[in-house]
Amino acid sequence: MVCARFAATGCCKTFNSHGHCSLHHPLNIHSIIQVTARCPICSLPKPCAKCDYYKRRAHLVSFVEAKKAETCSYKNANLPEVLALADKKFEAATRAHQKSELKDKVKERGVNCKTGIDKIETQLDQIDKWLTKNSDCNDSELYKAKTKWITKNVEKAFYAVDRALEEWRGRREKDEEEEKKGRGRK
Ligand SMILES: [Zn+2]
Ligand SMILES: [Zn+2]
Repeated sequence: MVCARFAATGCCKTFNSHGHCSLHHPLNIHSIIQVTARCPICSLPKPCAKCDYYKRRAHLVSFVEAKKAETCSYKNANLPEVLALADKKFEAATRAHQKSELKDKVKERGVNCKTGIDKIETQLDQIDKWLTKNSDCNDSELYKAKTKWITKNVEKAFYAVDRALEEWRGRREKDEEEEKKGRGRK
């Protein structure tokens, strides 16, 4: 005979106070229900959509996506030109017999522009992976810091390219003149 109390509640008073019960306690009548995961801050079921960390996390997730897309289109639009101008300037400097330090500087600047953009792309991917791996993180300050870091560093990488383009585009004509003079001397 099945113990009525055990069948109803999963807990038998007789068993708990005497260590045994003459009635049957079948082990397959109760199904175990998974405890609902709850937000450790407000205790609402996860995701709570309410606490500060949740909002900052959601913001960072879409922010990373947006910055990845922005970096990709910025790269496609500007990097080929900056690298081509760096090559052109380097060649012009060679023809004009400029000092090697000056030529190296031009080359280095072009390379730095590319490295800066590549690096930001890698780092955005890393933050993306971190977000996937740390879905339980409820540290709002950490999300805030990462968002701030992205804003600053994407700007920095774009700025380097913008500056080089601005300077080199303006000097293109001047370089071509120098190039002509260089040829004339030969
Ligand atoms: Zn019992
Ligand atoms: Zn919450």
